[in-house]
Amino acid sequence: MPTLYLGSMPLEEIGWLRRGACRSSDPELFFPLAPTPSQEARAKAVCASCQVMEQCRSYALRAGESDGIWGGLTPEERRRTRFPEGWRRPAAPEAAAPEATAS
Ligand code: SF4
Repeated sequence: MPTLYLGSMPLEEIGWLRRGACRSSDPELFFPLAPTPSQEARAKAVCASCQVMEQCRSYALRAGESDGIWGGLTPEERRRTRFPEGWRRPAAPEAAAPEATAS
C-alpha cells in the first residue's frame, strides 16, 4: 500500500492530528508570521486541553519540526528539549602546531 502524505508528513505517522484541539483554531495562532508572547500563550492554552498533546509533542521532537507551536512547545522550547545545554561534547583540543626549527 502506498504511503499517503500530508505535505511532507506520512499520514500514518500523524493520524492523531485529526483529534487535535487545534483543528478548529485559526492556523495563524499556531504558525504565525511574527510570533508574540500573547499568541504563544493562546496557542499553548489550546494545546493544554488537547487529548493528543503527548503524541503531538513526541512527533514534533522526533521529526525536528522547526516552525510553529506543536504539543504546547515553541520552536525554541523544542530546540532546548532536543539539545539541552551541555549536550555537545567539548571539542577535542587542537593538536599543537609543530614549532618552527631554525636552520
Ligand atoms: S497539542 Fe496543540 S498543536 Fe498538537 S494537535 Fe493538540 S492542539 Fe494541535
